[in-house]
Amino acid sequence: MDTVNQTLSRRDSLKWTGLVGLATLFGGSVLRAQTTPETTNLSIQGAGFYRHQLGQFDLILFSDGGFSMQPKVLFPETGDQLIETARKTFLSPESVPGHVNTLLIRSAEKTLLIDTGCGNLFGPATGKLSENLRRAGIDPNTIDHVLITHIHPDHVGGLLAGPELFKKATIHVSNTERSFWSDPDLSRSLLPEEMKPQVAAGGRRFIEYLNQARDRVHTFENSIEILPGVRIESAPGHTPGHVIVSIQSGSESMLYISDCAHLAPFQLIHPEWKAVYDTNAEQGVQTRQKIYDRCASERLLVAGAHLPFPGFGHIDRSNDHYVWIPIIWQW
Ligand SMILES: [Zn+2]
Repeated sequence: MDTVNQTLSRRDSLKWTGLVGLATLFGGSVLRAQTTPETTNLSIQGAGFYRHQLGQFDLILFSDGGFSMQPKVLFPETGDQLIETARKTFLSPESVPGHVNTLLIRSAEKTLLIDTGCGNLFGPATGKLSENLRRAGIDPNTIDHVLITHIHPDHVGGLLAGPELFKKATIHVSNTERSFWSDPDLSRSLLPEEMKPQVAAGGRRFIEYLNQARDRVHTFENSIEILPGVRIESAPGHTPGHVIVSIQSGSESMLYISDCAHLAPFQLIHPEWKAVYDTNAEQGVQTRQKIYDRCASERLLVAGAHLPFPGFGHIDRSNDHYVWIPIIWQW
């Protein structure tokens, strides 16, 4: 078993899930040009972070902002079922607010940030992470470790935003993920063919970033303990090297499910729906079903990258499907 500890002790309208946005965002430049300091100064609703104590760990879930997600585009093979599910959930089949979260784990010794949000790739309603970190009293440049759960722009954009951010951190990424995006094969994705080259180019762009930052990049295989009590687990399908994180301290535990839920109200009712942004749509379904089942069976506290802010809650069974039960906000 590889352990990072050993290694370390040694030394908007911009719709990513709307596919036009996705390709543009992976490609980068157009939207970046629109993200001026003036436009990024828009305020978001309420607080941008939420603290939760889990045993010895101080967890802070940070919002990076949000963008519109388009269920009809995300779940292209669902037809009338989608309309019926939208009705059941009191949501629109056309557009639903999508949230982008990151999770900071603080132990007595180290800080680990899971993902870095959109940076300046998705327009002014996102890219709030560093501002929210500072509002919570955390200098991004004091963070020891950054884990990239997978190489999608809403997870790596914060690193691409500028070399001055997270500059002290060791960047952890799965070896499978790094290899895949070096030469991406999107043949098992439901993405329209014309979108695939741009999506692939976006992935390669981050590989270039990793190559340039190689002195502080650590790649891992499958499951590793990244900090004592914090274990990375493989959860392939959304991307081949997509990982989730289990966190345990004393008798308390939780699971950070990363992108195993993008639009939870829809996917918990229909985990069998294939999602357009999974690089392997079939495998994405299998992994989602397995993870939801585990969360419900083990009655785990859950958080995720796109679960509705503040992102903590439980997944339970109800009749023939799952439901999301958010925690009650604690002031
Ligand atoms: Zn995502």
